[in-house]
Amino acid sequence: MHIIYSTPITSFYKRKYDKIDIILYDRKVIFYISLMHPKPFQDLIKHFSSLPSIGPKMAERLTLYLFKQSPEDIKSFATSLEALTKLSFCKRCFNVSDQEYCSLCRDTQRDQTIVCVVEDALDAIAIERSGFFHGTYHILGGNLEIGKNGETNELHLTIEKLLHRIKEEKTQEILLATNPTTEGDFTALYIKRKLHIFPSLRISRIAKGLATGGDIEYADEQTLIGALKNRRYYDASV
Ligand SMILES: [Zn+2]
Repeated sequence: MHIIYSTPITSFYKRKYDKIDIILYDRKVIFYISLMHPKPFQDLIKHFSSLPSIGPKMAERLTLYLFKQSPEDIKSFATSLEALTKLSFCKRCFNVSDQEYCSLCRDTQRDQTIVCVVEDALDAIAIERSGFFHGTYHILGGNLEIGKNGETNELHLTIEKLLHRIKEEKTQEILLATNPTTEGDFTALYIKRKLHIFPSLRISRIAKGLATGGDIEYADEQTLIGALKNRRYYDASV
């Protein structure tokens, strides 16, 4: 069901009845919005409902909560939302940035010879919080999935950009820090195989210190430091 709520609301097929706005997905009724609500209220409920992990009831509650705030606070909230449209992805590592290159890439004190590959920006932030790693990052934009027909979603990830970057920057070490889940392990293995074209590159994978199936984003700092410190280097000949 989480796919339903993370799909943009505009892609839903909608039908209106007298009292409720029914949103259908895959011919199933998944969401009712009472048309007794004023229009701006309904619109905001729809926006909240399109966010991951937010169900329709929670969307209604959040909308009511915001409505009860002062007009200044609501405007400030709206301004922050609008400011998101001015951000973009860093040209080098694909982190969120307000400039061409993100603050981590602009930091010349960092070790530019090592790149930590993570699934998304929140993983990089979690690793930064641990204070252990002082190299650079590369954000993949998700993990690798294989469809029923054997096709992968590789084109939606930044794997090719990573290969190009290693070649251009003459990177010396890649630390594969995708999540220790089945998908994360598969993604790390897939990238490791692609890196065969760089014979002198040292490649490591974060240690299994994190609970299997757990996400880097939610790991505590000590656990993360342990996983980074005890990273396992692949044998170059394998
Ligand atoms: Zn960057």
